[in-house]
Amino acid sequence: AYCQVRLEFYHQTMNDVNDTTSVKVAVRIRPLVQSEISKGCKEVLDVIEENEQILIRSIDRSFTFNHVLPSHTPQNELYDRCVKPVIANLYKGYNVTILAYGQTGSGKTHSMGTTYKGEGDMGVIPRAISDIFDFVRENFCYDFAIKVSFIELYQEVLYDLLSPKPRDQTTLEIREDTVRGIHIPGLTEVPVQAASDVLNALTRGSTGRVTGSTAMNAQSSRSHAIFCVNISMNKKDDSLENKEVKLYLVDLAGSERQKKTGAIGNTFKEGININKGLFVLGNVISCLGDDKAQHGFIPYRDSNLTRLLKDSLGGNSVTLMIACVSPADYNVDETLSTLRYADRARKIKNKPVVNQDPKAAEINNLKRTIQQLRLQIVAQ
Ligand code: ADP
Ligand code: MG
Repeated sequence: AYCQVRLEFYHQTMNDVNDTTSVKVAVRIRPLVQSEISKGCKEVLDVIEENEQILIRSIDRSFTFNHVLPSHTPQNELYDRCVKPVIANLYKGYNVTILAYGQTGSGKTHSMGTTYKGEGDMGVIPRAISDIFDFVRENFCYDFAIKVSFIELYQEVLYDLLSPKPRDQTTLEIREDTVRGIHIPGLTEVPVQAASDVLNALTRGSTGRVTGSTAMNAQSSRSHAIFCVNISMNKKDDSLENKEVKLYLVDLAGSERQKKTGAIGNTFKEGININKGLFVLGNVISCLGDDKAQHGFIPYRDSNLTRLLKDSLGGNSVTLMIACVSPADYNVDETLSTLRYADRARKIKNKPVVNQDPKAAEINNLKRTIQQLRLQIVAQ
C-alpha cells in the first residue's frame, strides 16, 4: 500500500497534468561565448517568460514553446522545470526520449551532460540517472534491473561505445521484426546497480567517441550520441506486475548546413552523411506534424537515426526536444532554422502506452478466469 501511495503521489505531482502525447519542446538560449564576444557579436533574442515566447528582435519573428529558457537559466532549472516531469513518466511504464537539437556550439552537450567528467554543474543525463536511483531507493517493494548502452551514429554507421573491443570492431546493425521491434543484435548492455555505475559507463563511452583529424569538437559535432537506459521493474509480492521501459538520451549532431567550400575527401563525406540523418529526421518531423499526413507514409527507414528514433517520434514514447540556440546576431540564420524545426516537432503527437509484459497480462487474465470458475464450482 505504501508503494502504491508513493507511486500515486509521483503520478499526481510529476505528471504534466494531462498531455503525454504531444512532443514537448524546451528552447534554451546559452550566454554569449568568448568567441562571439571577441567578434563583437550582439544579442538578438528576447524572452517573454510568462508566455514561454522567444523573439528574434533583428528580424521580428516570434515563437511559442512549452518552455523558453533565457541565457541565465542554470542547469538545475532546466532539469527541474522541463526534464524531471518527463522522466517521471518512466515510473508509470512509459518510454521516454530526450533529444538535444541545435547548431554546433549552441549548448547541446552542455545541456545533456553527455561528456560527464564528475565535476562542474551537471547536465540532464547525470541528473536523470540520480533521479532514477532515488526512485529505486524509495520503491523497495519493487525489484529493479537496470542496463545501459551507449551508441554513436557516425556517417550512418553505428558504433558500440561500451564495447571493450577496438573501435573499428564495434560496428553494429539495426534489425527490425514484429516481435522485438527495432533492436540491435550484439549491442553491449551493461547491468548497473547504482548511479555511479551509470556515470562510469557514460564517462567511458563519451571518451571513446571518435576523435577526428581536425578539431575534436568538429568530430563530435558530426555524430549523434545516444545513451540508453533500460529499466525493468517487478513488484516483489506480485510477480505479475512488471514493466520494462526505455529512456533514450540523445545528443544530436550539429544542425548547421554543411559548407560546400573546402570540403574534400572524408570531410565532404561526413557532411553528406550527417545531413542525411538530420535531413531525414526533418522530413519525419514534417510528415508527423502535418495533420493531413498523420496517417500517411513516414520515411523512418531512410536513415539509421530515424530508424532508431522511430518510437520516440510519433510512436510509443513521451518525448522532449531541447532546442539549443546561440543569442548572437552572427547566428541568426541558424537560430531561425532551429526554431522552425522545433516548432514543427511541437506538432507531433505520440502514442505512448504502458509497457506491461504481455505474458504477465495473459497470466493475469487466466488467473481471473480460474477465480471465476472456482466461484462457480463453490456456488454449485
Ligand atoms: P554543442 O554540443 O551544441 O556543440 P556545447 O555544449 O559544446 O555545444 O557548448 C559550446 C560552448 O558553450 C561550451 O564551451 C559550453 O561550455 C558553452 N555553453 C553552452 N551552453 C551554455 C550555458 N547554458 N551556459 C554556459 N555555457 C554554455
Ligand atoms: Mg556537442
